Amino acid sequence: MFVLLTNDDGISAEGIQALVAEFSRHHEIAVAAPDRERSASGHAITMDRPLRARPVEQIGLAWAISGTPGDCVKLALSTLLPKRPDLIVSGVNRGPNMGIDVFYSGTVAAALEGLLNGVPAVAVSLASYAADLDYAVAARVARSVAERLYQKSALSRTLLNVNVPYLPQEKIKGVRSTRLASQHYQTAFEARQDPRGHTYYWLVGEPLPEVGAGEDTDIAAVANGFVSITPLGLDLTDFDRLNELRSWSRNTGVL
Ligand code: MN
Repeated sequence: MFVLLTNDDGISAEGIQALVAEFSRHHEIAVAAPDRERSASGHAITMDRPLRARPVEQIGLAWAISGTPGDCVKLALSTLLPKRPDLIVSGVNRGPNMGIDVFYSGTVAAALEGLLNGVPAVAVSLASYAADLDYAVAARVARSVAERLYQKSALSRTLLNVNVPYLPQEKIKGVRSTRLASQHYQTAFEARQDPRGHTYYWLVGEPLPEVGAGEDTDIAAVANGFVSITPLGLDLTDFDRLNELRSWSRNTGVL
């Protein structure tokens, strides 16, 4: 396979270095990643300033890009890469990307950008913020998932969002196919004073316990020691509401 690696923690993050080590032993790779951490940048793209792509020769075919994860994938696919990649792998992210996290995640957005361009993609996150994380198990899981995805041509327009529990490989109980949890965060900002006496705000929201969550969610799978794999699509249309809306607009004659 020819695999494009990217992330949102920046090109020097340990998570992407683990992917480089794991994939380069078995596949041809290229790397296009932000030149600094761009976590929680979502699917932002840069339109008001130029992008710089600095080659990183120590890695090989690699660029550190002065943009978002979305910029990196767009620029790589359209301009930088000598040929189209078979697959994009984004990660390994430091921290989980489950439930509503996928709306904010740069890791997932980079994979979505691949899918928008017809390249299947895997987003991989390690569900821990511990110090000195070891990404080797998550990188092996990423390669295993990527190779299986590549072998299934029926899954060519697929994005798999993978979350790996932070456990030794022998303690991981297996793999579960999951749906996104609907867990929400309490939105809270801590107000502080800067040295000049002005107030600033810092996001401190904690996850709220999920009410009535099923065992089939990504969060439940990881909490129970399984690797969670959720297929994500590009269509946000709420089809149940669409049917309601059709009858509503027919009956009320909005226009
Ligand atoms: Mn990140």
